Amino acid sequence: MTQPGPSRVATRWAVRIIPCFIVAAFAFAKYAVIAHLCVDYLYRQHHERGLAVALIVLYFVFFLLALAAYVRTVYTTQTNPGLVPWSERRQRVHNERKALPHKEREDLESQSWSTPDLSPDSPGLESFYTKTMFICEPDGRPRWCSLCWSWKPDRSHHSSELGRCVRKMDHLCPWVGGMVSETSFNFFAQFTYWVSMYLAVCVATAGYCLHKQIQASDPLDWRVVVILALSGLFGLFAFGMSMTSTRYIVENITNIDVFKRRAVHYIAIRVPRGTPSTASYQTVTFPLPGPPGTEPHSPANGFTPSSRDRQAVRTFAIVKTEPGENPFDLGYWRNFKAVMGNNIFEWLLPIEHSPCCNHDSPESFYEFGSLIEELKERHGLPQGHRRRHSRADEVEMVERRPSRD
Ligand SMILES: [Zn+2]
Repeated sequence: MTQPGPSRVATRWAVRIIPCFIVAAFAFAKYAVIAHLCVDYLYRQHHERGLAVALIVLYFVFFLLALAAYVRTVYTTQTNPGLVPWSERRQRVHNERKALPHKEREDLESQSWSTPDLSPDSPGLESFYTKTMFICEPDGRPRWCSLCWSWKPDRSHHSSELGRCVRKMDHLCPWVGGMVSETSFNFFAQFTYWVSMYLAVCVATAGYCLHKQIQASDPLDWRVVVILALSGLFGLFAFGMSMTSTRYIVENITNIDVFKRRAVHYIAIRVPRGTPSTASYQTVTFPLPGPPGTEPHSPANGFTPSSRDRQAVRTFAIVKTEPGENPFDLGYWRNFKAVMGNNIFEWLLPIEHSPCCNHDSPESFYEFGSLIEELKERHGLPQGHRRRHSRADEVEMVERRPSRD
C-alpha cells in the first residue's frame, strides 16, 4: 500500500462532508415543505386540509423509509463492508508495521507485494477446491491478490481505497460514506428508491404551491424555488441511481463488472477424479503437485500425500467464457431474489442481508447460472455433474476406505 494520493484524500474528505450536507438538506426540506408549505400555506392560509395532511403523511412515510435504509447502509459500510480476510502472513506483517514509528513504516510498505503462493498447502486454497466450481486463472489456480497475499474468492475485487479485497464490490459511495458491496447493496438500492419517492413528494408539493402562487400573482417565494430546484436536481440523480441499481440487481452485475464488460472468465468445474485434459479443456487436480520433479499423488515417485490430500483429491476442468458472458446470471427473477431477498418485507425494508452473502454452499461462493451447462456442452464436459459427482465420490470413498480384512 502507498500513502494516500490527492485523489484518495479528496475521496476521504468527500466521504466525511457529504453526510453532513445530506443532514442539512433534510433539515431544510422539513422546514420548507412541512412547516412552511404544508402547514402554513396549504393548511392554514388556503384550507386545503386533506391535501396538506396527505402530503405530510407521504412525506414522513418516505422520509422514514429512506432514513432507515440510509442508516442501515451507512452502518453496514462501516462495520461490515464485505472484506476478504487477509492471509495470516499478511496480517502479521500489518501488525508488525503498525507497531513501528511512522517513518519506518514506509520501508515496509515496499515489501507489501507478494507473488502467488505456489505451495500445495497454501492457506485458503482448500476453500476453493472443496467447492464444485470457482473462478480461476488459466492454470486452474484461484485468482491471487498480490496486495492482500491471499486467494481472491469469486467476484471479489481489490479496493485501493480500503487496501483490501471486497466481496462483490460495487463502488465507494460518498453519499453513504463507505464501500457499497454485497453486504450493503440491497440497503443502498432501497435508499435510492425511497429517497426518489421522498424527493418526488417534495417536488410535487413545491410545484403545486408555485402553481397556486403564480395563479394568485403572489410574490415569488424563495423557499419554494429552492425546494423545487434542490428536490428536482437530487430527485433526478436519485432516480438515475435507482434505475442503475435495479439494472445491476436484475442482471446480477456490479459497477466493477460494467467496467470489465468484455472480460472473459476462467471457471474451474469439477469433473470425475483423474479426468485427463482434452483439446478443448485443460484439467487440474488439487491438491496441487508438491516439489518440482514429483508427480502428484503418486507414492511410486516418493510423493507422500498428507492426510488432507488423501481426503480431498479433486479434478477440475478449466473452461473459458466468451467476452461479456456473465456466468452468475440466474435470470431476472432469481437475480433479483439473490440480492433483495425472498419476500416483500425484505424487498422494501432494510432488514436482512442479501441471500447472496451466504457462501456456505458446497457448489460455489456465488450461485452460477445456466451458462455453466452451456459451457460444459461447448467444451464437451461430462453433463449432470452433481449426480456424476456423487457416484464418483462413492467410488473414491470405496477406494480410500481402509481394508480390515
Ligand atoms: Zn486484495
